[in-house]
Amino acid sequence: MKPIVRFDKVTKSFGDTVILRDFDFELTPGERVVLMGPSGSGKSTVLRILMTLEDIQDGVVYIDDEPLWHEGVGNNLKPASDKHLRKMRGNVGMVFQHFNLFPNMTVLRNIIEAPMKVLKLSRKEAEARADELLARVGMSDKREAYPNSLSGGQKQRVAIARAMAMRPKLLLFDEPTSALDPEMVGDVLQVIKDLAAEHDLTMLIVTHEMGFARDVADRVCFFCDGQILEQGAPSKIFTDPAEDRTRQFLRMVL
Ligand code: ADP
Ligand code: MG
Repeated sequence: MKPIVRFDKVTKSFGDTVILRDFDFELTPGERVVLMGPSGSGKSTVLRILMTLEDIQDGVVYIDDEPLWHEGVGNNLKPASDKHLRKMRGNVGMVFQHFNLFPNMTVLRNIIEAPMKVLKLSRKEAEARADELLARVGMSDKREAYPNSLSGGQKQRVAIARAMAMRPKLLLFDEPTSALDPEMVGDVLQVIKDLAAEHDLTMLIVTHEMGFARDVADRVCFFCDGQILEQGAPSKIFTDPAEDRTRQFLRMVL
């Protein structure tokens, strides 16, 4: 099957600091991949590049065979215009560690805003979509609430509904439970698992929740120093990693 995401020798640096060097990475449509690795290793940067929040210095990123950060074909690529970036961003939804809800908007408004503005849905269509998703994440009764009245777990469930409302092909999660109180983690992970079971969405998830990764991931990638050091089925990576670095890391997070 053709990859839905392909990083082809991508280099990303901040000033003199190289975060990704000749980074190659692929996701197959429908695949659920967990990215794990030490703090500061560049995991969020990988997601942010896909969300067009960070540019790249070398290489090409493709989504569905179309260059993300470039326009053109073959060797004839030039930097992407804002219009192209906006179009490509429509393929991707992201759930952030710190929710990033709009504080001045109700839960409902948070969810319908982008479908109305970007996808040009009518308010009625956008609300129908939002209500279905709110029911799915167990948040229907908070439809008119403002984010600051919600718990972290509730905020994150709204953020997941908001990302889904754009019907992305690719859904990115950046440590979706690491800012939550422990008693809320399970609920949010269950919502993500349910979505994974119901949709054939491609998911790329940065998390250190091993039990969750075992349940949801087709593949776990251990990422460090800007490269994937090893990858495989969760059963393999978690019980019998090939690399010492992976073993050390797993001992720390377990
Ligand atoms: P991770 O998500 O694996 O913890 P990040 O992708 O957030 O790692 O960061 C990778 C490295 O890039 C870190 O050393 C971080 O300090 C650096 N970095 C991230 N964003 C910026 C930025 N906007 N400017 C400068 N350095 C950054
Ligand atoms: Mg991060």
